[in-house]
Amino acid sequence: MAVDLNTSLPHSARIYDFLLGGKDNFDADRRAAAEIVKQSPSLPISMRANRDYLARVGRYLADDLGIRQFLDVGAGLPTSPNLHEVVQGVHPESRVVYVDNDPIVLVHARALLTSSSHGSIAYLDADLRDTAAVLSAPLDFSRPIAITLVAILQFITDDQEAYRIIDALLERLAPGSALAISTVTAHNEQAVLGAKAYTARGIPARPRTDDEVRRLFRGLDLVDPGVTLVSRWRPAGPTPDDFHVQMSGGVAVKR
Ligand code: SAH
Repeated sequence: MAVDLNTSLPHSARIYDFLLGGKDNFDADRRAAAEIVKQSPSLPISMRANRDYLARVGRYLADDLGIRQFLDVGAGLPTSPNLHEVVQGVHPESRVVYVDNDPIVLVHARALLTSSSHGSIAYLDADLRDTAAVLSAPLDFSRPIAITLVAILQFITDDQEAYRIIDALLERLAPGSALAISTVTAHNEQAVLGAKAYTARGIPARPRTDDEVRRLFRGLDLVDPGVTLVSRWRPAGPTPDDFHVQMSGGVAVKR
């Protein structure tokens, strides 16, 4: 299947890739990134803190909760370490399905899937809002699954829509499943300015307060320390100053 990358418009996955030092981006993405960083100079530090959070969350889900199946929606471009590397490092039989709606992510996922020699990974080209498509992931829904929505829910700007999506996904999951979230925080001035800069470039983004993020988990049991800045969620080493960190999140379990 041919893929239309639509390189004249900035895409969130490629802006993110550029700010993390990647090479999978085009002029429109680099120009948008430069403008966004003027409003939010700490964004690259924040994105790295978010990736580190994803790695710690993956280890927690695999090691502490013993989950062996992962549905990573808004996977983004491959960035070391990828979630499958983290969770297959804990348990080699862990299965990861990556989901994204950006065509360039699809191109890279194809390369990743054919080059990967170990473990079990799959890729689904789907939109988070199309929950039926997301739930068609090749996983065993009678056993626990961890859904990771990391740095994607800021792009679902309407709360009712976010609740609808999360409810539909969680309803299908077995007890012992988990939901992990990170999303742009409203408690940081740079984060608010950064979200405005994305929105101005055709990528609507909305910061949320910690209370609003907590409500995304309603009906689930949040694990310690609850909803917090991603850098403060079970840190494993030195962390950047709060000032730089623009994402908050947490992990919750379905009983
Ligand atoms: N989770 C990764 C990447 C975050 S960047 C990380 O934290 O490092 C956000 C990703 O979400 C991008 O790859 C973008 O293409 C994807 N995305 C945004 N809106 C989406 C939607 N509605 N459905 C599926 N993917 C989406």
